[in-house]
Amino acid sequence: MICPRCGKRTDKLISGMCINCYIDKIEVRVKNDKVMFCPRCERIKVGKSWKGLDALAELIESRLRSSIEEPVVKVESISFHKDKMYVRFLIEGKVDSQRVRVEREIMFRIVRQVCPDCSAPDRFDVKMQFRGNYEDAFDYALSIARGNVKVERKKEGMDLLVRDKKAAKGILKELKKRFSFDIKESYKLIGEDVHSGKKRYKTTYSLRFY
Ligand SMILES: [Zn+2]
Ligand SMILES: [Zn+2]
Repeated sequence: MICPRCGKRTDKLISGMCINCYIDKIEVRVKNDKVMFCPRCERIKVGKSWKGLDALAELIESRLRSSIEEPVVKVESISFHKDKMYVRFLIEGKVDSQRVRVEREIMFRIVRQVCPDCSAPDRFDVKMQFRGNYEDAFDYALSIARGNVKVERKKEGMDLLVRDKKAAKGILKELKKRFSFDIKESYKLIGEDVHSGKKRYKTTYSLRFY
């Protein structure tokens, strides 16, 4: 038999073409391209719970409309552009009882919404430790943060508690323009919701100024 699309010899036609052409033409679409995204903890809403971005595979699987049987999704990369999120992923599944792998990219529209965990009033997820010759930099950081922070005095310097990573990164970016310092980043898992499995981390930036 000859595949009418590519002209190659094949022993079987699926929907009138060879399996390679069939895979080529598989369209991957999602039923609903909106995703709730919490800008503070960078989690998405899957069903009723908020999960880390690694849950995108689960989300895609649940919304997939494809011509592949028993699809299993693996996310390869995620990129953000304004209110859109582009996800490259691999689907493994079956077509006509043959195993296939298809790589595709889809776009989700992001609806930003602060999740219930992050909207708790007294929550600071990031600690910025100011050490060394930090005084000017600390004053400057306070002026950028505009009150959205908590200050703790330590023997070795000052700690600035910041609500979330986004805010912390904004402060770091400004500091880098004016001061020279070393930075070390570390994480600590501080909890996991038994019901939803969502994890919470605290981030510490240790800054040493010259
Ligand atoms: Zn073909
Ligand atoms: Zn959140």
